Amino acid sequence: MMSCPLLAEQYKHMSNIIGIDLGTTHSAVAVVDSGFPIVLANAHSKRLTPSVVHYPSDQKAPKVGEEAVRMRTIAPDRTIYSVKRFMGRRSGDLSDREKEVDYSIQAAPNAPIQIQIGEALLSPEAVSAEILKSLKAAAESAMECTFERAVITVPAYFNDAQRQATIEAGRLAGLTVERIINEPTAAALAYGLNRLKDQSKIAVYDLGGGTFDITVLELNEGVFRVLSTHGNTCLGGNDIDQAILNHFLSVIRTQSEKIDVTQSEEALPRLREAAEQAKIALSTETTTTVELPFLTPDFHFKLELTREELQSIARPIIERTKQHCLRAISDAGIRSEDLDQVVLVGGQTRMPLVRERVSEYFQCSDFEETRGDVRLGDSFHTASGPELNTGQNPDEAVALGAAIQGAILTGEMSQMTLLDVTPLSLGIETFGGLMNVLIPRNSTIPAKAGEVFTTAVANQKEMLIHILQGEREKAADNWSLGQFVVSFEKAPKGVPRVGVQFEIDANGVLHVLARDIKSGKEQIVEIKSAIDVEDHKVTEMVESSVEHAMQDWDARRWIENKLKANDLLSAVTQSLSDCSEDLEPDYLELIQEKVDVLKGVLARENKENQSGDVDALKRAVAELDDATQTLAQIHLDKITAEYLTGA
Ligand code: AMP
Repeated sequence: MMSCPLLAEQYKHMSNIIGIDLGTTHSAVAVVDSGFPIVLANAHSKRLTPSVVHYPSDQKAPKVGEEAVRMRTIAPDRTIYSVKRFMGRRSGDLSDREKEVDYSIQAAPNAPIQIQIGEALLSPEAVSAEILKSLKAAAESAMECTFERAVITVPAYFNDAQRQATIEAGRLAGLTVERIINEPTAAALAYGLNRLKDQSKIAVYDLGGGTFDITVLELNEGVFRVLSTHGNTCLGGNDIDQAILNHFLSVIRTQSEKIDVTQSEEALPRLREAAEQAKIALSTETTTTVELPFLTPDFHFKLELTREELQSIARPIIERTKQHCLRAISDAGIRSEDLDQVVLVGGQTRMPLVRERVSEYFQCSDFEETRGDVRLGDSFHTASGPELNTGQNPDEAVALGAAIQGAILTGEMSQMTLLDVTPLSLGIETFGGLMNVLIPRNSTIPAKAGEVFTTAVANQKEMLIHILQGEREKAADNWSLGQFVVSFEKAPKGVPRVGVQFEIDANGVLHVLARDIKSGKEQIVEIKSAIDVEDHKVTEMVESSVEHAMQDWDARRWIENKLKANDLLSAVTQSLSDCSEDLEPDYLELIQEKVDVLKGVLARENKENQSGDVDALKRAVAELDDATQTLAQIHLDKITAEYLTGA
């Protein structure tokens, strides 16, 4: 598209970076115009575009949004929805439930997911690029100019590969992605725009179609500092839809054993759509009727569903967000009473039960039990706890925040600053299989940290830098993000020096630099989509770090003391072989006895979880150390004498 002219005066008032909320179910595009962020409508005058792409069989251009949605039941195999869940992910990353879609995906072991349309295979990035192109076109048509730069939002818990995939989708759509920001942070920017003078603490509870994020932020006169973030990239409204669908299927089974709608290509998408529609209707109604004539040629489906029934279906799913909320508050180092507001975003927070449960988690105690109607734009204030703020349009806040971030980048909104955090710790594996954290979780990004490492074995010529992400003490329990080797001159143990620096850029992308300090030789690695993180286990990771905290801590203490013990044993063995003829037999026997005690403690190690009696180990090390003081002196004297006589 040729760039159309823009009045200089007009340009001055408009940020030329668009903000895009690339959602699982819906997407939106916004700009900041004359200091105001606005969500732009698409060709159908809708501000939300369904994140659905239909590829016509006649090779014509793909259809995006409403037109594609209409094709979902007609040509489910060529109509792609929820593609976001496949971005930057490999087969092993996905649970069977996540692979359940009405179109075909290719999920070869450990290969990136591909989407099959007829004979063609498409990457999730290519499909997302169609959505981005359509949003770009909508913005260009609304503002009558071209846009080539964008800020795109992602769930806070998106890993590096998923962020890189989002950047790639932008590139395929002809956009330079200036910044990737986290969805809840974007929502907070939108929320905070009118509160630039405020000093407050807020939590953003973001429950969308496919993902859940909870973020705690501090607002201090225009500076937005993320204090903590938690979430689950595979938890959202889709899970509720699936649970309703399962309920429908069990009702159908009770109605007739002969009907198996799961075998019908068209029936399942229709039921899924009806499940979501019923869920949405029950946010405002107390009862709804689901009617699907000719679900199969000889079966009409009709069912009345009440809000109460829906709530008992949805409750266990919503309840899964509770632990994340509690953890985010505790990670932020605050209590829920310290919060001023809990801001609700994401389409699924329109459900009354979600509002009720969230107000309970954050102790918004006087929130009334679900009302007959859902009132948008209200705040439910409580005497003791925070306000439950439903004043943000849950579907638009994220896109607005992305546009605001665009305006911050162009300098148009210089009164605001965003300080985001990294959700999981990053580090490298050290000798003995331990995780050495360089950047702890919830560190403000961009972040940079470095440490100097040395060799644990004599004559080593290279060092393996194994990059890890996670909260566990043992390397094997964390995720491997990649590894590379640094080479240097052969030298005694402990002599080589390798500096390792981690840098997370503003997009949350990690760059690792390793330098042999002697030669100055450097190696820089950008952790790209090679990341082999099983993303749906991010949550489990944080949970298991807490669950195994004591055990992990014991393992770390054991491994560290074991390394010390082995060092001491090899030094004693060396001294004994050099000086045994200079020692009294009683003294030799004493040392041998202490060595045996130490070896005995080490032999009792529980190999499976690398642990043992740390106190006994420390005692045995201290006793051997004590007993060998004289030996060490004799050995040193001998080495010195040999050196002086040139022996
Ligand atoms: P988002 O990813 O933020 O666009 O949220 C989409 C999710 O919100 C989908 O699962 C929708 O079914 C759900 N949703 C949208 N509107 C409502 C509503 N009024 N009541 C309940 N769920 C809704």
